[in-house]
Amino acid sequence: MNTYKLDTKMIHAGIVPDALTGAIMTPIYQTSTFVQVCPGQPQDYNYSRSANPTRKALEDALASLENGTQALAFSSGVAAIDAVIRLLESGDEVIASDKIYGGSYRLFTTIYQKFGIRFHFVNLNDPDEVNAHINPATKLIWAESPSNPLLTITDLVALTTLAKKNNLLLCVDNTFASPYLQNPIDFGADIIVHSATKYLGGHSDVLLGALVLKEEELYKKLHAIQNSCGAVPGPQDCFLVLRGIKTLHLRMQRHCENAEKIARFLHQHPLVEKVFWCGFEDHPGFELAKRQMRGFGGVVSFTLAEADVQKVFRFLSLVKLFSVAEGLGGVESLINHPATMSHSSLPAEQKLKIGIADNLIRLSIGVEHADDLIQDLGLAFEQL
Ligand SMILES: *Cc1c(COP(=O)(O)O)cnc(C)c1O
Repeated sequence: MNTYKLDTKMIHAGIVPDALTGAIMTPIYQTSTFVQVCPGQPQDYNYSRSANPTRKALEDALASLENGTQALAFSSGVAAIDAVIRLLESGDEVIASDKIYGGSYRLFTTIYQKFGIRFHFVNLNDPDEVNAHINPATKLIWAESPSNPLLTITDLVALTTLAKKNNLLLCVDNTFASPYLQNPIDFGADIIVHSATKYLGGHSDVLLGALVLKEEELYKKLHAIQNSCGAVPGPQDCFLVLRGIKTLHLRMQRHCENAEKIARFLHQHPLVEKVFWCGFEDHPGFELAKRQMRGFGGVVSFTLAEADVQKVFRFLSLVKLFSVAEGLGGVESLINHPATMSHSSLPAEQKLKIGIADNLIRLSIGVEHADDLIQDLGLAFEQL
């Protein structure tokens, strides 16, 4: 399968016609347990927490799309992140990007810190800052590129070199890029995390997470964690993500095209202070994005000129095609106020440090016609 192009893998990876019926779509094996045909003999499926055929098809597809060898699906993106941290022991330390997803920050600081795991939140593009936090207890580097919501790009090759030199695991949250735009294992990452709730699922109808691995040992450890802790997705949710993946390439192309048009529209608008889109040549991550990614993604953020929170809320109420909602990566366009929504769990000084200003707005650009989306934003600006 790995000799095929990505677009072909989207359709065929992990998919085997059903042996019993020939069904071309992977059946939803809605069963908790499997009859043991020859008691005492090993068989592929015994109990759905350990393995389920619909989940297996999805895991095989994800491993192939990310150029890994194995994958594990979880009940949410956060459950997948949680499984990685369970590899660690009390006393271990993690160096994480200071711009990670708010839910990862919350999990690390409110749940795992009290079990004696230490997290340092640093600028991963500053090797001196990273090096300053490496000590014998350090086990893991946690990156996310592009980051949410300002699309900061992390140099994955430089980070791999640093991780290898210090014998650390490198985990990359690849949710924003999706496997269509970026494959961190190609740059040397050990673990890829996905919230498949976003682009992989793509239709805002399922919550699911995944890990993609390249080494058998790490896979075995994480599979044992998955089976012991039990945060597995149901077969119907696996089916929905498998179905979503079949159009990932088509959707991502349109997400990227629309995002570019909207970024350029916002850029010239007098009521916009600054636009964050890593396809602009003056974006600090532009060169890295061109090197690491095959497109600039479907998220665009911007600050509203001279706006307080009330003015931002008025803007949110004026757009019609963009729905005010958490989340991203679906076919429909969404608008979000990071300071009070996606990043509300961050302490004020952390928000300030990473640039989550009160007048910042994040758009998840859907696959509607770009002209309609631009008109919708334009009318909202006029009425503001
Ligand atoms: C949404 C998201 C997650 C968490 O995923 P859930 O499926 O909501 O649990 C993790 N990382 C990033 C970058 C996300 O956007």
